[in-house]
Amino acid sequence: MAAIEASGLTKRYGTVDALKGIQLTVERGEFFGLFGPNGAGKTTMLRILTGQLRPTEGTARVLDLDVVREPLRVKSLIGIVPEVESPPSYLTAYEYLYFVGQVRKVEGLEGRIARWFEFFDLDEARSSLCKDLSKGTRQKLMLAAAFLHEPSLVFLDEPFINLDPIYQRKLREFLQEYIEAGGTVFMASHLLDIAEKLCDRVAVIQDGAIVATGSVDEIRGPESNLETAFLRIVGA
Ligand code: ATP
Repeated sequence: MAAIEASGLTKRYGTVDALKGIQLTVERGEFFGLFGPNGAGKTTMLRILTGQLRPTEGTARVLDLDVVREPLRVKSLIGIVPEVESPPSYLTAYEYLYFVGQVRKVEGLEGRIARWFEFFDLDEARSSLCKDLSKGTRQKLMLAAAFLHEPSLVFLDEPFINLDPIYQRKLREFLQEYIEAGGTVFMASHLLDIAEKLCDRVAVIQDGAIVATGSVDEIRGPESNLETAFLRIVGA
């Protein structure tokens, strides 16, 4: 059984066709990357697959659950790092992870929070309100929250964007270990050099349609790197 299966996914916002009949399968244990120009439909796709948005037409199954019929069950099983959201401003860093852990009924919560505080060196932020944290620290907290319940599938929208090179590398290594341990990652990103190092398979979306899909080698084709191939594919 695939981790993600989308069939004929369409999303219309008024007169805007954000997704036009997307077919997509992501196998369990894959690191899958979704790339595309601004406004191509990546966030819309992610929001549908994570049960936050209903498609206009089509179906999507995530971990063998229908995302439209069972969005809560889907959300309980997956981890999400959305593109723009931040942890709530009125909680401290510790309170936020504690809150997420309670909602997700995480066992051994204190130990897991301690591990993530150590992994991202968050001790100084422990008692600070989230609104006073730097963008990078907020991003680290969102990542910790997404992995706190040890989900088997995570959806990451630009997970590297606010991290410095030290933590980009740490996150990269963590995600590689996560995949080796059997996890599945669906990542939307514009950072093709990082994606090239991590992804098993990628898809390029443009104007709401998938215009290329395959292994990183297949998509790279004769080009020297994924970025050049991407520019060719989208005709830039
Ligand atoms: P970016 O790389 O800039 O984040 P994206 O690939 O994530 O872009 P989406 O945010 O999914 O693209 O947007 C796809 C299209 O749908 C765009 O034309 C966008 O303007 C439109 N769109 C997205 N959300 C809405 C909305 N709530 N109402 C109306 N149009 C929307």
